[in-house]
Amino acid sequence: MSEYDYDLFTIGAGSGGVRASRISASYGAKVAVAEDRYLGGTCVNVGCVPKKLFVYASHYSEDFQDAAGYGWTVGEASFDWPTLVANKDKEISRLNGIYERMLSNAGVALFNGRATVVDPHTVSVNGKTVTADKILVATGGWPTVPDIPGKEHAITSNEVFYLETLPKRAIIVGGGYIAVEFAGIFEGLGVEVTQLYRGPHFLRGFDDDVRNFLAVEMRKKGVDLRFNVNIARIEKKGDVFLVKLENGEELETDLILYATGRAPNSRGIGLEEAGVELAANGAVKVDGGFKTSVDSIYAIGDVIDRVALTPVAIAEGMVLAGNLFRGEDRILDYADIPTAVFSQPNIGTVGLTEAQARETYSAVDIYASSFTPMKHTLTGRDEKTFMKLIVDQKSDRVVGFHMVGPDAGETTQGIGIALKCGATKAQFDATIGIHPTAAEEFVTMREKVPDQANKQVAE
Ligand code: FAD
Ligand code: NDP
Repeated sequence: MSEYDYDLFTIGAGSGGVRASRISASYGAKVAVAEDRYLGGTCVNVGCVPKKLFVYASHYSEDFQDAAGYGWTVGEASFDWPTLVANKDKEISRLNGIYERMLSNAGVALFNGRATVVDPHTVSVNGKTVTADKILVATGGWPTVPDIPGKEHAITSNEVFYLETLPKRAIIVGGGYIAVEFAGIFEGLGVEVTQLYRGPHFLRGFDDDVRNFLAVEMRKKGVDLRFNVNIARIEKKGDVFLVKLENGEELETDLILYATGRAPNSRGIGLEEAGVELAANGAVKVDGGFKTSVDSIYAIGDVIDRVALTPVAIAEGMVLAGNLFRGEDRILDYADIPTAVFSQPNIGTVGLTEAQARETYSAVDIYASSFTPMKHTLTGRDEKTFMKLIVDQKSDRVVGFHMVGPDAGETTQGIGIALKCGATKAQFDATIGIHPTAAEEFVTMREKVPDQANKQVAE
């Protein structure tokens, strides 16, 4: 008999916490998990899932227009925001139920409430003290809004999924994943969108050609995308908001969405008091095996602030469960993580950007192509697709893959496997294409981009 109530007590039933708990239980551990808000965490409730449903919803406006080129007459289309929100809520309730059943079927005890760490082997939840051999912190992150006058008038991604009415005009602040995704969602739903980014070019960290290309496509669709601007203050005037920019300009809008990053959810839950070291931004410091500075306390997912993506939190949970309860000794490989931004059109990317590749390898070859997708030959829509491969000249390995175009995430997932296997450009070339697809372009690109011309490809 263990001296503790549980072998593992997980705080947070989000992407990482649920997976770690469930898999640990399947390896024979006695596991409990505490959740104080919503089963499934950010991704299921206010992240990946509702976001993607909204992306689908917003794309119909173009689909109805595009149908005409294929001979369809579509009656006057209208959109009802409350219907979308209600249907989305229904689907999320269904998923919450699935998570609950998944945990109970795995034999994981669920505590509905906020858990805090009392000491290295004790947590407190709903006024009850529970002991565990190991504690896992999987508390995720929380949106951050800069401290400007009037910030209380702004909303974040936490609220945007529950708006009662769709605004006529919206200002979106930020140049990361959430900002570009919501610029596309709102624009597609007929909202007049202004996106403000503080730096010279949004999507910092992505390949420069991809960033340029997406900016062009978003502007073509009507998003008023402004760089090198920031909000100084927000004032409420009746039903509208007056937004004063640092450059003195004033904008009027009906909604302000801040998408300026997320902070690890690590404060106020007893971690520091128990001896767990946090980084300056609140990230829980862990070693390669996700162990914190306290031997019995582990952390995974957004709260460790490595790569804030659901599949990464899940992979961390899998590795941790195997190491703790199946005698494995694995370290998660963070190289070549594929990712998609569900902007319109989508971005898909895996491996290095061109700038990173040039820093890493002595010589790289670039293959790039931009073209009108076949669908739009009949619709007449002025939307282009962009594809780019980056190859290390010496080994011939494809070290970077980038796409902007419909369903880029779907294509990228497959290519991610190839990169993980170390595929060479010769192997890409030896692969027969699937015709007619956009993705076949990746196995038919033969012409290297001359170094000088490279910068113009996506402009
Ligand atoms: P979370 O999923 O945030 O789970 C943490 C859980 O812990 C929460 O349920 C919280 O309520 C609970 N909790 C916190 N403190 C306590 C406490 N003291 N006691 C009890 N419970 C507690 N990623 C993708 O891969 N693809 C996407 O398309 C994508 N889209 C996104 C869109 C948006 C708008 C946002 C905000 C994020 C998106 N992400 C996406 C990121 C993804 O949601 C996160 O990386 C992922 O949810 C992290 O999982 P986690 O387990 O670390 O934390
Ligand atoms: P990101 O970190 O992606 O982007 C934050 C943006 O806000 C950056 O453009 C940043 O600019 C800007 N910013 C930060 N601070 C300020 C400030 N004080 N004033 C003005 N602008 C500021 O965060 P998100 O909130 O968009 O998303 C959080 C994370 O969630 C993502 O990084 C991603 O990991 C995950 N996610 C994944 C999705 C997916 O997989 N499709 C979708 C949505 C989220 P700068 O670049 O100059 O720092």
